[in-house]
Amino acid sequence: MKRRMTAPREVLAELREDFSLCGKCKLCQAVMAQQCEDPRFWRNCPSGTRFRYEGYYAGGKLEMARCLDLAEIEPDEMMKHALYACMLCGSCQDRCYPVKQLHPMWVFELLREQAVQDGWWPEGWFAETYDNLEKTDNVYGVPAAKRVAWAKDLKLADALSEKVEYILFVGDEYSAFGSLAPRMKAVADVLDAGGVDFGILGGKEVSSGALLLQLGDRDYFETFALANIELFEKAGVKEIITADPHACTVFKEEYTKLADIEAYHVSQIFNTLIHREALKPSKQVKIKAVYHDPCRLGRRMGVFDEPRDVLDHVPGLELIEFERARKNALCCGGGGGAYLWESEYARWVTDERLFEAEHVGAGAIVTACPLCVRLFEDALKAKKSKMKVYDLAEVIALAL
Ligand code: SF4
Ligand code: SF4
Repeated sequence: MKRRMTAPREVLAELREDFSLCGKCKLCQAVMAQQCEDPRFWRNCPSGTRFRYEGYYAGGKLEMARCLDLAEIEPDEMMKHALYACMLCGSCQDRCYPVKQLHPMWVFELLREQAVQDGWWPEGWFAETYDNLEKTDNVYGVPAAKRVAWAKDLKLADALSEKVEYILFVGDEYSAFGSLAPRMKAVADVLDAGGVDFGILGGKEVSSGALLLQLGDRDYFETFALANIELFEKAGVKEIITADPHACTVFKEEYTKLADIEAYHVSQIFNTLIHREALKPSKQVKIKAVYHDPCRLGRRMGVFDEPRDVLDHVPGLELIEFERARKNALCCGGGGGAYLWESEYARWVTDERLFEAEHVGAGAIVTACPLCVRLFEDALKAKKSKMKVYDLAEVIALAL
């Protein structure tokens, strides 16, 4: 697709107070200790905990933003590494804001936009991703015809030729990986069982652009956003459902500035359907499962209760919690695009979360994000662990 060029809507300088007022108190490095008994799990900033250097915690990166704003320093290789090792998980912001009312994560997002705009961002680290997007409109380079493979045995409505109430947006992850195909099929099956009138965009759907925005490339993000919005408008549908929290976040925060749409994560729809008794999970699913809050769904969109409520309605399922749950949740390792260029570091974060799942005695992890599912599953396979990973929709499908 031809890249659309626009001016950034927000500029880093607008958050000057946030990066100037940081008192380096380090509150943002850890979780609420009173909500997490074991000190082993207190540290919650993936990049700071891994690289053990001030510049990788929020306070250090805010200082970087301040110095760059005042032109006291020139960006160097270590700054690029620290900025792009940030998982944009939002844990620092959720700790800082209630006390100091600063927004460190927003600063890091805009600092990345500034880096792209000023040409010092590490573009080469993402060369393969960009090549994939330019050739196929998909982050993982999967061509349009193969992106609908997951739906080949389903008779789903084509939203571009049939009138439907909702569009089910599939997203980069679910459309690209064979291991996620049964999960996406479960999403469609559960919506269908609940009587939801939905259709898909098939091979016409393109990347949501969520990853590009995380990398700081707002122009290229908007290219994809506008292509999807054109499809939504062509279909005459204003309500979008997705199982991908990354897509859902940009729909809610960005697409709504460009179009008259509403977006929902499937966990919200499933919960409503269960409460209306349109879905009645009745079969036993005997697992001792811990629920992992995806950063974008939980901290970013505030969706903490709905997935848990859904799981509480599954007969036989014993739901337990991580030491770091809800706002304290540790990222799965998939935030900020670091898994694309620093896979060893991303795996370390994933393994930290899996260690915590074992620590609380879980036999399975349930989550509601395809990237979390994929990273957990790959790491468990590498460890030859017996622990299983379930997407939320899979669990309900088993119970129906
Ligand atoms: S970002 Fe906030 S919590 Fe973290 S060191 Fe600065 S002022 Fe303290
Ligand atoms: S957004 Fe997450 S990874 Fe980045 S500095 Fe904050 S806590 Fe650390």
